[in-house]
Amino acid sequence: MKRRRALAVTCSSLLLGAGILAAPVLDTPVQAEKAQEYKMPAISGFISHDELTRELDLIKQTSNGRVEVDVAGYSNQGREIFTATVGTGDKVVLIESEIHGNEKVGTKALLKMIKQIGSNNSPDMQALREELTIVAMPMVNPDATERNRRGNDMTWEEVVEDFPQLEGTEPSWNYYTYENQYWNYGVNPGFDVNRDFNPDLDYTPQADDFPNDSSLPGWFITPEAQTIRDVYKGLQEEYGNVDVFVDLHHQGEYVVEGTDDPVTLSLSGVFIPESETEAGGKYEEYADEYNVDFSKQLNIAAYDALQQMGNSPFGNITLYPQDLDLPGTALGSFAMNGSGAVLFEVTGQTQSFGQKKLGQLTKAVETGLYGILDSVATGKVHELDVDEYDDIPLTER
Ligand SMILES: [Zn+2]
Repeated sequence: MKRRRALAVTCSSLLLGAGILAAPVLDTPVQAEKAQEYKMPAISGFISHDELTRELDLIKQTSNGRVEVDVAGYSNQGREIFTATVGTGDKVVLIESEIHGNEKVGTKALLKMIKQIGSNNSPDMQALREELTIVAMPMVNPDATERNRRGNDMTWEEVVEDFPQLEGTEPSWNYYTYENQYWNYGVNPGFDVNRDFNPDLDYTPQADDFPNDSSLPGWFITPEAQTIRDVYKGLQEEYGNVDVFVDLHHQGEYVVEGTDDPVTLSLSGVFIPESETEAGGKYEEYADEYNVDFSKQLNIAAYDALQQMGNSPFGNITLYPQDLDLPGTALGSFAMNGSGAVLFEVTGQTQSFGQKKLGQLTKAVETGLYGILDSVATGKVHELDVDEYDDIPLTER
């Protein structure tokens, strides 16, 4: 274990020193090793980073040039972070999955969708390709994926190496060093990448902004957040705006408020207090770009598509808690930059829930995402009644 880390760190440092993108080879089956050590449920139905790499290549080859696959950057341990782009429209939709490596369903759903949208000749799929530019970033935190855990694989010392101005500073609040029954961050520390974003996309880390807390912006100290930010900024430069940003996650097991029905998927479009409220006053400088109503309409589009599946688990859709103030999340930061933002949280994190209901949860994510894509492509999303957002049932937590 120790040797592998030392090797990986060296590769990573080399990459930084050389300033070029090259992929070191990493083939240690960390995932299997950890699962055995901590007795986690099997997760073989999900996709490993190696499988993702092969599958994207296959999708690209069979798409007749419709799907473009690029390496957008590298994780701290040197694994590729990909973009798969399909469509030539001027409405831009960015969708990412697995920023938490123990939340894997979204990657499966995204791959299926990119394949279908890229290769299917139905009028529906043709319309999506004509109206939208869909940029999928499946598995944006591959080091966490391989360890089946939330945090990436990076030490505070490595951060200070990258940003010497942080020498002597207390590590950021989202730095994990604990051990529990599932994983040992004491041996392999890491960061919650989904608290490393900042609405100022050009922010560079300042010692005064550490350790901060969850109600304050992040710093772009992790290569994973930097890569996602760079893709986002690149799209802004090319298209003017990233119209829609969707982030695919997992949550615990809950029921629909006032019922015994297990929640299949929770949605949300609200990640920071609105700027006209007292709590939201601090976000005033982003008020012109922030469009929470559009985020709510996108959520309604996803919700409606799932309700149309009839009386089934796909109807058990709720709102995620709404009183959030999380400017350090990708959703919070990108919403403040003018993207309609949608959170998907399917049931059950993989360290405890394993791959139960895998087919159903994958289908739920696909259905909700197609609801969003269709409504944006046709423009119908703008006709949806914003107030219907509040009719989506809450989650009993
Ligand atoms: Zn998550």
